[in-house]
Amino acid sequence: MNRKLFDYIAASPTAYHAVEHTAKILSDRGYSELREGEKWSLEAGKGYYVTRNCSSLIAFKVPSKDFCGFMMTASHSDSPTFKVKENPELSDGKYLRLSVEKYGGMLCSTWMDRPLSVAGRVTVRTENGFETKLVDLGEFSAIIPNVAIHMNRNANDGMSYNPAVDMLPLFGEAGESGRFMDLIAEKAGSDKADIITTDLFLYNLDAGKEWGSFITAPRLDDLQCAFASLQAFAASNESESATVYCLFDNEEVGSGTKQGAASTFLYDVLYRINSVLGGDGEDLMRRISNSFLVSCDNAHAVHPNHPEFSDKNHTVTMNGGIVIKYNANQKYTTDAVSSALFRLVCEEAGVPVQSYANRADMPGGSTLGNIANTQVSLNTVDIGLAQLAMHSALETAGAKDTEYMVKALTSFYNKSIIAEKDGSYRFK
Ligand code: ZN
Repeated sequence: MNRKLFDYIAASPTAYHAVEHTAKILSDRGYSELREGEKWSLEAGKGYYVTRNCSSLIAFKVPSKDFCGFMMTASHSDSPTFKVKENPELSDGKYLRLSVEKYGGMLCSTWMDRPLSVAGRVTVRTENGFETKLVDLGEFSAIIPNVAIHMNRNANDGMSYNPAVDMLPLFGEAGESGRFMDLIAEKAGSDKADIITTDLFLYNLDAGKEWGSFITAPRLDDLQCAFASLQAFAASNESESATVYCLFDNEEVGSGTKQGAASTFLYDVLYRINSVLGGDGEDLMRRISNSFLVSCDNAHAVHPNHPEFSDKNHTVTMNGGIVIKYNANQKYTTDAVSSALFRLVCEEAGVPVQSYANRADMPGGSTLGNIANTQVSLNTVDIGLAQLAMHSALETAGAKDTEYMVKALTSFYNKSIIAEKDGSYRFK
């Protein structure tokens, strides 16, 4: 399973590639592509997917008979990285560097002295307009070099990194001006003059590895969850609910984009499934009330050298199974009801669960469950797999946990949930 996960991560250097690769996996399994701008017709028993901005994707399966609700998972396609600015090359007479800015909150030090490449998308002029093409340099193309210890004797005493100074990657020598866009154009198979604009990002070239009880790979947050929930979605049997798989872009920058979890994308898709299958507004409300969302985003394992950063009673460990995340201020959506629903699913699947909460004096991170709820409000649980070094260029997780998540979410997708009254539910 982890080998397949590493292949998925390697094929997904950016959110665009993650969506393209996920779409290919789905279409190889018989799912049909829908376009938001075209009229949909849906067939019972069939699977579909739709993308927005080439960086978010929602897939769903239509049950063969009348359905009671939507069983959904959501994860994110993006990871913290550096975006290459519109005018990409910086020349100082000696070196050619790339002009970049931060995308999300990465651990800067982990991006240094590491083989980096560049991938993303370009818009290319066509006869009557333009098209989007994905590009990936695919090889060691840049490095962000540290300053030698001899020139910075305090380097081991806590560094502060200025992204405009310290984090600019070396790309070549001064005489190579123009080479960056030459390479991008070559990878796009287009004339450089026809490239109108770009969305390009650095990425870490390291391949995922399993070692002992652990796995180490780039972008485990959140491609481990994206991969595991996709496996579960594809493997699930038909139930009395429509199953829905969501992969949202822009979680790392707050989700507030047309394709992020704060957008209407999920609502729009649910609305269309309901109405194309003959449901009215009342049917949609009824169905959402009998629905459930599992927001899947990785969690912080207790750190081997710094256990003091974890709450003593809520430490979670790698290979300990699914982490259910709690937060009194509802940065995580989990409450007694959604937690009970999901715990029963895991119990039946024979998958261990552990409870996570931040130390009461540490604010912790945020994720997409509560943000998605502002557009589609329904019972939601926040879960993840325990990992170390979140937002490092190279992250570490448990070797057994991917399989645990596939098992738990397959069991989840095979169920339907009926609201007997507010706060009481039964499985079907
Ligand atoms: Zn995440």
